[in-house]
Amino acid sequence: MPDKFWCIAQNFYKTMYQSHGRFSGRRNFNNNFSKRNGFKQRIDENLFVKAAEKVLKIEETETKNLFEDFGFQAQLLTNIKDKGYKKPTPIQDQIIGAVMEGRDVLGIADTGTGKTAAFALPIINELITNPHKRIIILAPTRELATQIKQEFRSFTPGLKVYIALAIGGAYIREQIIDIRRGAQIIIGTPGRIKDLGQRRVIDFGKFNKVVLDEVDRMLDMGFVDEIREIMDQIPQPRQTLFFSATVNNKVGGLIETLLNNPVKVSLESRVASNHVEQNVVRCKRGAKEQMLLEILNSSEVKKVLIFGETKALVEQLSTKLFNNGLKADSIHGDKPQNKRTRVLKAFKENQINILVATDVAARGLDIGDITHVINYTIPNNYDDYIHRIGRTGRGDAMGYALTFIEEREFRAPPAQGRPGFGRFSRNTGGWSRRGR
Ligand code: AMP
Repeated sequence: MPDKFWCIAQNFYKTMYQSHGRFSGRRNFNNNFSKRNGFKQRIDENLFVKAAEKVLKIEETETKNLFEDFGFQAQLLTNIKDKGYKKPTPIQDQIIGAVMEGRDVLGIADTGTGKTAAFALPIINELITNPHKRIIILAPTRELATQIKQEFRSFTPGLKVYIALAIGGAYIREQIIDIRRGAQIIIGTPGRIKDLGQRRVIDFGKFNKVVLDEVDRMLDMGFVDEIREIMDQIPQPRQTLFFSATVNNKVGGLIETLLNNPVKVSLESRVASNHVEQNVVRCKRGAKEQMLLEILNSSEVKKVLIFGETKALVEQLSTKLFNNGLKADSIHGDKPQNKRTRVLKAFKENQINILVATDVAARGLDIGDITHVINYTIPNNYDDYIHRIGRTGRGDAMGYALTFIEEREFRAPPAQGRPGFGRFSRNTGGWSRRGR
């Protein structure tokens, strides 16, 4: 890491971290991030500065069950072992048995907890003994849906389990063929799944098990009507497995209407960000790009995900980095799906080591070895921040998150009835009027 950068980041870290101790993070974040006059006001840097906690290995967590205790079929157990899973994660420990008993499940858990296998394993096991079962899995983004399919696939060698992907932005004809061939599991985004229902390709009447993954994100993306329309067509009795990283009023409304006496598991506190050393990089607006290049050229920054606010910025920044000889590419909502898939694959397989992205990549993506997340622009709210930085520090690894803060973003709280413009002082850890 270049001296200049470390000097800025570490001095700041010392002042902020030592004087304030551990920050709870969530406090006032959304207030501080309310955009007024198109401006993100009163940024509290404390929220982006936090030491990483000790990484607890899955083997060190306390669980009641071993995979052998769930009564899985032999081939599935072999596949779990072949994948290298030694014991269940806490969420798997707590819900696999309940899913196998047919109970509804409410999992308050983010990615990184092992929730995909928590629903995938009992579903696969059921299909081995009852191949006529039909399951729908709804996910917010195409990337997450694809990742869920890959996770299922990794457990099905030697087993006859047929899966179709139903996501927007990809050829619908191939998806129709896959579904008509008798896919037992359909994994997709709500819009495309609803569309396939309207075309009578999916007959919802045949399904009686549904997984709703990352419900909070689906609602943020405006999918509430699609979710309700799909669920209205899936007959009772049915089993619903419902996962959300957070619960707000909107999510609560769905929980009440869709779940029947669910088994509840909350792993909210085990956010992946506990494994992430968080810090800020202060700089003048014009120096931002140069500072980023210096960071990226450091030998410690091996694989990095950079978040930018707009599609245009993301595209422009990735082109600049590429033109500077770096192995960079981008994903955002304006890129065709096949290109997004290709770029993501290249990043996963280390053909490129820098991915610039909008928040389309903030949630769900499981790429094990991202060493750094850089917030080139500040996220709009604390949940987005936590999701972004959760892309590093995955599994047993430690991660680093750096948030760029431009000097113009330091605005003092209004003083004595007048709007004030101040500077955040690194020495005092508070606001000064100097910069007015
Ligand atoms: P998820 O929360 O489903 O996105 O999973 C996060 C990561 O944990 C993925 O890379 C999984 O492959 C991994 N994982 C899930 N369950 C286990 C387990 N029981 N043992 C080891 N790794 C696991």
